[in-house]
Amino acid sequence: MTEKKAGRSAGWNFDNSYARLPQTFFTEQPPTPARSPKLVILNEALAGSLGLNSDALKREDGVEALAGSQIPEGALPLAQAYAGHQFGYFTMLGDGRAVLLGEQVTPDGQRFDIQLKGAGRTPYSRRGDGRAALGPMLREYIISEAMHALGIPTTRSLAVVTTGENIIRETYLPGAVLTRVAASHIRVGTFQYAAKWGTKEELQALADYTLERHFAKPDEGENRYLFLLKEVIKRQAALIAKWQLVGFIHGVMNTDNMALSGETIDYGPCAFMDTFDPATVFSSIDEQGRYAYANQPYIAVWNLSRFAETLLPLLHDDQEQAVKAAEGALAGFAEQYTGEWLNGMRAKLGLFTEEEQDGSLVESLLKLMEKEKADYTNTFRALTLDKPQESAMFGTPEFTEWLGQWQARWDRQPQSKEESLQLMRQNNPAVIPRNHRVEAALDAAVTGDFSVLERLLDVLARPFAYTTDQEEYAALPAPSHYPYQTYCGT
Ligand code: AMP
Ligand code: MG
Repeated sequence: MTEKKAGRSAGWNFDNSYARLPQTFFTEQPPTPARSPKLVILNEALAGSLGLNSDALKREDGVEALAGSQIPEGALPLAQAYAGHQFGYFTMLGDGRAVLLGEQVTPDGQRFDIQLKGAGRTPYSRRGDGRAALGPMLREYIISEAMHALGIPTTRSLAVVTTGENIIRETYLPGAVLTRVAASHIRVGTFQYAAKWGTKEELQALADYTLERHFAKPDEGENRYLFLLKEVIKRQAALIAKWQLVGFIHGVMNTDNMALSGETIDYGPCAFMDTFDPATVFSSIDEQGRYAYANQPYIAVWNLSRFAETLLPLLHDDQEQAVKAAEGALAGFAEQYTGEWLNGMRAKLGLFTEEEQDGSLVESLLKLMEKEKADYTNTFRALTLDKPQESAMFGTPEFTEWLGQWQARWDRQPQSKEESLQLMRQNNPAVIPRNHRVEAALDAAVTGDFSVLERLLDVLARPFAYTTDQEEYAALPAPSHYPYQTYCGT
């Protein structure tokens, strides 16, 4: 009885369209109840936009729902099946520690997956315990919300609760559940799973479902699955360009971690680059640098090629024709990506108009940054603040020469200097989630002090504000903080 009332007062309004797909795509699986759930953080703004009542979510039964100890009315918990290429090797995966409660349909009719990450074992858990630790769940919360504030498509974080149980990693850690909100959790790996283990009808059902859930209708006469491929490519090109523009390194771009919605998903070993270096890798397990900063666009194409392969039976009855169509679509990535990236760079440099040499103007700045080991974010920040005396790079003759070219470029556009600086402010974040700041917030949080985390979240929610209270967050870490490493699956 209480369960139903709780569901209603919290505003849960579930539909379960994924559960209406063929059974092969999921296993019904309730979350494992947590021993003693406690709310650590609730994203009240996000809750509001989802039509949820924060006060009700904070009450005991509300928190129990976020911990998986109570199932809200209308939810139909399931674990999704998927496969994926992990570092290039194909494996059967699936939600090993996440349970999809269902899709929250918002008051304005939008649909979002509500997934509990760290909610216990599922049939896809393999050797894992199905659990997650507080630190990494808060890390996902911080970085995904920072990405959202930066204007980058991403899954969101609604809440983190502790379970009251310790989990075993290298040591005992407090267990936690993150409520992840996503346009959907359909991945390249979902299609790989369908192509490998499903029938053609099942693959087609998944493709039709994905089209309907995320994309407009194809033009009359156009092959709908080629349209799907092209749209997915377009969104990934735009997404990866946005990552590159802010210096975000995903760290584990396996095909199961690429969402067809075009949202950034799976915040494991990701981190923001500080010193500009195209070869930057943070993940401890990425020994070959497969997922290095500069490789991200190429890996995206590799992953999209795996996606295209799954669609071949739907593209054309003739295999050769199907391959030709897929290759044509994949060839479009490079131009779309470069276009998005260059336009983003133009905005970062205050350029409203387009000139043929803009690409080389950007490249020569980046080369100089690499040579002088300049901080990526702070270089653009200093240019935006019109204060290029702040870093060593700005004292070099090469920079003076570059500055002359840039100023001359500004002079060739009709906009005023003020307008250009304004454009730069809107496109160059004053603050990003600096690794040392994130670590400090997590260190304090696991000891029960959430004040550092709250302040950090507040600063990261307004990355383009350029307020004085944000200044300390732009500061670089002490040299002792390097080399910074991140870890997967924690
Ligand atoms: P990821 O590296 O986060 O993309 O995870 C790869 C796969 O491992 C996914 O199928 C996850 O569900 C699974 N996984 C990660 N951690 C655990 C865990 N602690 N227990 C069970 N499965 C896990
Ligand atoms: Mg994953």
